Amino acid sequence: MMRLPPFRYLAPRTAAEAARMLADNGPEAMAVAGGTDLFPNMKRRQFTPTVLVSLRGLPHAARISANGGLTLGAMATLTDVAQHPAVSLRWPAVARAAGLVSSPPLRNAGTMGGNLCVDTRCNYYNQSEFWRASIGYCMKKDGDICLVAPGSKICWALSSSDTAPVMMTLGAEVTLVGSAGERRIPVAALYGPDGIQYLAKKTDEVLTEIHVPDRAGWSMTYRKLRRRGSIDFPILGVAAAARLGTGRVVEDVRIVLGAVHTAPVPATDAEAFLRGKVLGAETIEMAAGIAYKPAHPLDNADLSYAWRKRMARIEVARALRELAGLPTGELPPVV
Ligand SMILES: Cc1cc2nc3c(=O)[nH]c(=O)nc-3n(C[C@H](O)[C@H](O)[C@H](O)COP(=O)(O)OP(=O)(O)OC[C@H]3O[C@@H](n4cnc5c(N)ncnc54)[C@H](O)[C@@H]3O)c2cc1C
Ligand code: SF4
Repeated sequence: MMRLPPFRYLAPRTAAEAARMLADNGPEAMAVAGGTDLFPNMKRRQFTPTVLVSLRGLPHAARISANGGLTLGAMATLTDVAQHPAVSLRWPAVARAAGLVSSPPLRNAGTMGGNLCVDTRCNYYNQSEFWRASIGYCMKKDGDICLVAPGSKICWALSSSDTAPVMMTLGAEVTLVGSAGERRIPVAALYGPDGIQYLAKKTDEVLTEIHVPDRAGWSMTYRKLRRRGSIDFPILGVAAAARLGTGRVVEDVRIVLGAVHTAPVPATDAEAFLRGKVLGAETIEMAAGIAYKPAHPLDNADLSYAWRKRMARIEVARALRELAGLPTGELPPVV
């Protein structure tokens, strides 16, 4: 059995106090929300903080408000978001992505803030300490080289959040509270340049709120690829949102790919191609052929990377067909 290492547990009453505790304890400290990602990672010694700063006691941390735009407290659970009537009605892709994370017990504990900050993943890293020691570790933790791309100076562990690509397609922003004050940045700016420093936020900053604009008049979806229908992290996520005018003319569109890089990847060339065109079967095929190009999966996740790359094209096409109200070409589930 893998056990948690000893740690000191701090219970701040405000976000500013949490930020101060993180700043005072430096690299020894980490924030913890639901713990569904952090605790398994600590058991595997991927993270070894000696101080945990709990975000449970922060005021209004779990609130969900859908007046005009949507405001989600960072501690809102994935279950609460997935099952919230206004979220399901007005931001269905948010509810869908939250509802596709992992399994019901983990969605009951796991939070939206934790989901946006979830660690990057790699087959050579998400292993027990014993397993990683047997191959000499890799540079994300305790080693010197990348075992997937040995010449690489950066880590290629994959961004594996289900909700981050959706938040990016909807132009969502997050509030961060740090020891130097509060700021609001786009979700797209939350992610850093490599799989180790995967968050661009400062280490003493606590994510307190997620702000999603009103998207009345937009269609949106999230599609997730994984080996099993539950529990598994995405090996590909496709989030798409579009505002269609008369005759299904694309007035605006956003497509973001998840689990193909160290951060979610916007398919900007495909978006530019689609604007002003009718969202029909032929345009969709052409757009999907452009959209999958920025996906560069490596051999560090489940199933073959060549197949994952091919599926990016297929899943983008299916997502766009959903937005256009066209059949996706999938077989109905066996009941
Ligand atoms: C078996 C299994 C399957 C899983 N499957 C999926 C999946 O399919 N899709 C998916 O997206 N995730 C998956 N997860 C990961 C995890 O359950 C979710 O991402 C969950 O939403 C994480 O939220 P949490 O509150 O538990 O985060 P925690 O574990 O508490 O924290 C995760 C990270 O975020 C930081 N953090 C958390 N909240 C904040 C905040 N408010 N401000 C600043 N930093 C913060 C923590 O310091 C930590 O680094 C899975 C986990 C397990 C164990
Ligand atoms: S991509 Fe390379 S450095 Fe990053 S976790 Fe995997 S093996 Fe380690």
